[in-house]
Amino acid sequence: MNKILVTGALGQIGSELVVKLREIYGADHVIATDLRSSAHEITRSGPFELLDVTNGQSMFEIAKRYEVDTVIHLAALLSATAEEKPLLAWNLNMGGLMNALEVSRVLGCQFFTPSSIGAFGPSTPKDNTPQDTIQRPNTMYGVNKVSGELLCDYYFHKYGLDTRGLRFPGLISYMTPPGGGTTDYAVEIYYAAITSGRYTSYIAKDSNMDMMYMPDALDAIINLMEADSCRLTHRNSFNVTAMSVDPEAIAAAIREELPGFILDYDVDPKRQAIADSWPHSIDATAAKTEWGFQARYDLKAMTKDMLSKLSERQL
Ligand code: NAD
Repeated sequence: MNKILVTGALGQIGSELVVKLREIYGADHVIATDLRSSAHEITRSGPFELLDVTNGQSMFEIAKRYEVDTVIHLAALLSATAEEKPLLAWNLNMGGLMNALEVSRVLGCQFFTPSSIGAFGPSTPKDNTPQDTIQRPNTMYGVNKVSGELLCDYYFHKYGLDTRGLRFPGLISYMTPPGGGTTDYAVEIYYAAITSGRYTSYIAKDSNMDMMYMPDALDAIINLMEADSCRLTHRNSFNVTAMSVDPEAIAAAIREELPGFILDYDVDPKRQAIADSWPHSIDATAAKTEWGFQARYDLKAMTKDMLSKLSERQL
């Protein structure tokens, strides 16, 4: 990676990834783009361009003008929102991806886009879900993610495009709020712990899902992109995870820091149905073996850091 174009850069992942990439590769080497503008520091700390990823010509012109050699494509509609707006999700998630792949093919860029645990479905083995297994998701987001994985593999095999991807679990972070995913509760619960000492979960007790802290997600993207291509048997997309938790486990970890924290439930059937179709815990062995994936934060370490960072910000 030398000159990197990031789409959807103002989102939960992009807003932190761009900062980290600029630290490593230099501010002028990371071109942040998004559909919207904001006062976020990444719009000032290096190149920033307005870009709607459904406009392939516009994406091509920006990528060519900056002579990028890497595309990190993050713009997408997330699981819960995609279920509310399936047509928009298809057009954005598939149309944007196709444009980003085509721009990368024509300009010969290395390519990264995240998949998700949403790429699995109700017939996938739920525990220790293998890297290679049944993928028959029943959500629009899941359909998009499986199709995206296949499309990225297709571009690798047909055109030799260096496509790489990660199946992210729910990502927990304190910088930018999540953008409409099923695991957003696992971020909200920390904000609520600091501001009110209690949280009402829309995800049911005993619903175990994989999660990962944002610093581990950023490292995973960079380490995968920097990995020697010859070592990769898989490409799109690697299972990665740091923990499998339910709301009670997170609440218990919070109580170790804030003993009076109260958790209750008001389950949202729509988001619960999505959660029920996902794995309980995924197997990240392929990522560990092929490019050395390792998460630094477990639930306890992540909870301590989240609460201290949120307290510093005096919510
Ligand atoms: P987000 O919703 O926080 O951010 C998405 C960004 O895309 C937003 O800044 C939005 O303005 C932008 N965007 C929307 N429509 C656009 C368009 N037409 N053109 C350009 N930009 C547009 O998402 P995120 O959490 O940062 O996720 C990024 C990627 O990671 C997505 O592919 C998502 O599916 C995947 N992922 C995220 C998680 C997670 O927990 N955050 C988990 C698994 C996979």
